[in-house]
Amino acid sequence: MAFELGPDILAIQQEARAAAREMAPLAAEADECSHVHQPTLDVLRNSNLCSLMVPAAYGGRLERVDPLAVCVVREALMRASAHLDSLFALQGIGSYAIAVAGTDEQREQWLPKVANAEVLAALALTEPVAGSDLRGIETTVASDGDDLELNGAKSFISNAGAAGFYTTMAREDDRFSLVLVPADAPGVSIEPSPEVIAPHVLGEVTFDRVRLPASARLGEPGSGFRHVLATLSVFRISVAGAAVGLMDGALTCAANHAATREQFGRPLVRLGPVAGLLADSWADLEAARLLAYATAEAAREDPSAHLDRSSLAKLSATEAASRVVDRCVQVMGRWGLIRGSDIERYYRQARPMRIYEGASEVLRLGIATRLCAEVADRQGDE
Ligand SMILES: Cc1cc2nc3c(=O)[nH]c(=O)nc-3n(C[C@H](O)[C@H](O)[C@H](O)COP(=O)(O)OP(=O)(O)OC[C@H]3O[C@@H](n4cnc5c(N)ncnc54)[C@H](O)[C@@H]3O)c2cc1C
Repeated sequence: MAFELGPDILAIQQEARAAAREMAPLAAEADECSHVHQPTLDVLRNSNLCSLMVPAAYGGRLERVDPLAVCVVREALMRASAHLDSLFALQGIGSYAIAVAGTDEQREQWLPKVANAEVLAALALTEPVAGSDLRGIETTVASDGDDLELNGAKSFISNAGAAGFYTTMAREDDRFSLVLVPADAPGVSIEPSPEVIAPHVLGEVTFDRVRLPASARLGEPGSGFRHVLATLSVFRISVAGAAVGLMDGALTCAANHAATREQFGRPLVRLGPVAGLLADSWADLEAARLLAYATAEAAREDPSAHLDRSSLAKLSATEAASRVVDRCVQVMGRWGLIRGSDIERYYRQARPMRIYEGASEVLRLGIATRLCAEVADRQGDE
């Protein structure tokens, strides 16, 4: 069963697959890096894929960011390398609020450099005390004469230390605003975050009396959550795409192994329980892919109308990815455990996907609420 991708998306998918092939010999080394791996950044820059993350008016390729294009690119890149996928994804995640809420000056200054990956982007929301509950953030921004002053600390920020700017959420009186903070602004400092099970470029960002012009705000004071939700509407679906790519890679490893290794006089694939592990995994993969593509397709016209559906696609694909990699390791026996092998990398990389960009338990709250609202609406129409 297949979802019919149009010729425009198929062409973009071919470009992403070409970058993935170029990445293959570098992937094992890159995916162990918690700093930017320069050869991987070179592959990304040469691919021109980051131009998909910026509107055409500011150096991008399409009129606006296309969730389906981003989804299929992440599927191809994640299959090859989590490091490559993350560098690509962050260009959109970190810059989307500039595209939708920035001034022309901010857009002209930053977006063309995001589109060609000359500058790396970052989105700074999480803090030591605030993760899922972002209303608990303690970073503050306050007007001081003609300027703004930013104070606080962000934690586990992807691309920290390598990014050219931080799209940062801060408390402004009793509301929340986004500000665009250049990495070289005096008072910005970075420390590495703890190493995580699947290495990732992560840092702790401190803002100590950072002075910014009032024009550094992204959108109106108090509009921070609106722009963060707009960002998530587009990019949460793309995590589903990445999870699909990861499952596809893991299942390829397991299927190759099961077809060639024999025990009890026959290939593993002919031993019933092993066949079951493979078949269930394929079913999980295909279902997640269909839901990811269909959700991304629906979001192409109006992503913000589809946030709950994006959450559903992300939940479904990332939970499936954890089940699939676990089964694939089981199919491969001791070869599934070898440090540095593709399957072992996939196994570790699946785990954080259920935590970042909306932990599964938190997504379920919004999804269940939407389900009840849709059921009530349907019954009202009957
Ligand atoms: C690899 C990686 C990259 C990241 N990159 C970034 C980044 O670029 N920018 C950024 O801002 N942040 C980033 N983060 C942080 C990430 O967004 C947070 O880890 C995530 O939001 C969850 O917050 P937390 O870890 O504090 O967990 P908590 O919020 O403390 O949650 C812990 C557990 O409690 C559950 N839980 C929490 N609230 C509820 C609830 N109301 N009901 C039911 N269960 C609940 C959660 O589902 C989870 O299982 C990154 C994290 C990782 C691992």
